[in-house]
Amino acid sequence: KRLNNDFQFLDVGRGDPAKKDINTRKSQFVEIYEPFDQTQAADQSHRCLACGNPYCEWKCPVHNFIPNWLKLASEGNIMEAVELSHQTNTLPEVCGRVCPQDRLCEGACTLNDGFGAVTIGNVEKYITDTAFAMGWRPDMSKVTMTDKKVAIIGAGPAGLGAADVLVRNGVKPVVFDKYPEIGGLLTFGIPEFKLEKSVMARRREVFEGMGVEFRLNTEVGKDVEFADIEKEYDAVFLGMGTYNYMKGGFPGEDLPGVYDALDFLIANVNHNQGWEKNTEDFIDMKGKRVVVLGGGDTAMDCNRSSIRQGATSVTCAYRRDEENMPGSKREVVNAREEGVNFLFNRQPVAIVGDGKVEGVKVITTQLGEPDENGRRRPEPIEGSEEVLPADAVLVAFGFRPSPAPWFEKFGIELNSWDGVVAPEEQEFKFQTANEKIFAGGDMVRGSDLVVTAIWEGRQAAEGILDFLDV
Ligand code: FAD
Ligand code: SF4
Repeated sequence: KRLNNDFQFLDVGRGDPAKKDINTRKSQFVEIYEPFDQTQAADQSHRCLACGNPYCEWKCPVHNFIPNWLKLASEGNIMEAVELSHQTNTLPEVCGRVCPQDRLCEGACTLNDGFGAVTIGNVEKYITDTAFAMGWRPDMSKVTMTDKKVAIIGAGPAGLGAADVLVRNGVKPVVFDKYPEIGGLLTFGIPEFKLEKSVMARRREVFEGMGVEFRLNTEVGKDVEFADIEKEYDAVFLGMGTYNYMKGGFPGEDLPGVYDALDFLIANVNHNQGWEKNTEDFIDMKGKRVVVLGGGDTAMDCNRSSIRQGATSVTCAYRRDEENMPGSKREVVNAREEGVNFLFNRQPVAIVGDGKVEGVKVITTQLGEPDENGRRRPEPIEGSEEVLPADAVLVAFGFRPSPAPWFEKFGIELNSWDGVVAPEEQEFKFQTANEKIFAGGDMVRGSDLVVTAIWEGRQAAEGILDFLDV
């Protein structure tokens, strides 16, 4: 019946996987969604209408062959599905977990019109997790290695995307990262309740099996000179991310008890995973009233990590309304279910306290005319100030590029906001002003998404292959 029912979407509604019980979610750093079983994955995949010109594929930044692998999953043909999904995506099991599908593939699904979009992300995750559990590994038997080798700086999604395409085309990638594990923000940023660390540990083993070499705990510019890398390799790919924290520019930001979001999240991961070098680095929210400032994915991760650490209360203050939040809607729902209190239309104007943080002074806003990016500007309402009591404040205002001091010496050009200039539309995609050096991901486009970083890494690798004439 399943294979012949063109109207499955009428008989079977959209079904998301079950979430773990709320007490587990509030206290443990484990993924909150249960996996699909085979029947759920098949039933949900079969809801796909196989639209002739699938809009979901176009909206997916890596242009996955979505209806094709949904069909294979609905037929239980996992091995073909996983091969197909890896033709376009380096980390499908990661994207299935962390992409904001509501504004990408699933937002574009024809059924997202009253019927409920196909659960594309969860099927993508199911296909890869199941294939790995069945012993699947990328087939490298037809790859002939050339004598070319490329250095990749940064083992985040951009660097890994580049390494994947290069090694599958016979070019040896050697990936340098200052951290002890691969993944970039996937490992040292995104918390376990969205993406458990074992997922990237498994990927490391898979990449190494494919012939990718990792040189971890190695900071380029400190432990190894870039000049030596540039000399030794045929080309270089930079995927170093953006790590300058944005500040609010208001009084009290330096008071004890005010922390940058990423410092908090990284310390938490290191603590949970036993990777802590110094126990004093851990920022503990147990028993504290926490105020999180910001409304994006990083803010949601801070909110939900604070809950799990045992904060007495977690309040998230955001200067626009819920409709205009930049992050994934799904994560806002999850945060609210876990007990986060949202205060919308509140703009911080000062952090107050005598020698340590005691509260955040906010002013109520109303939304005015759209700014240059089309988003409505928050305008403060005079006389509406109030103080939110706080024992700790987490500032999650986003990131600005963090160009390395050695870029200039090697002719790597920056744009007006310090992003590396490496356009896609040119003879060799994502080449910088230095012909041997390519770049992609957050350091080129500004902080964005895992899936866009993967795309740019993969595209840059194609640019490198053309440049090396492989
Ligand atoms: P990164 O992931 O930042 O990787 C860069 C790597 O380069 C790092 O490992 C770093 O150690 C290394 N590096 C830098 N300089 C050097 C050097 N000199 N020598 C050696 N190594 C170096 N996106 C989503 O799609 N969904 C989400 O749910 C989501 N949640 C997020 C939550 C948080 C808290 C944050 C901060 C971001 C989130 N994002 C999310 C965004 C996403 O993680 C990034 O857009 C993506 O990781 C960018 O990939 P990248 O490879 O460009 O850089
Ligand atoms: Fe959707 Fe992201 Fe998967 Fe593309 S990579 S199909 S946007 S979940």
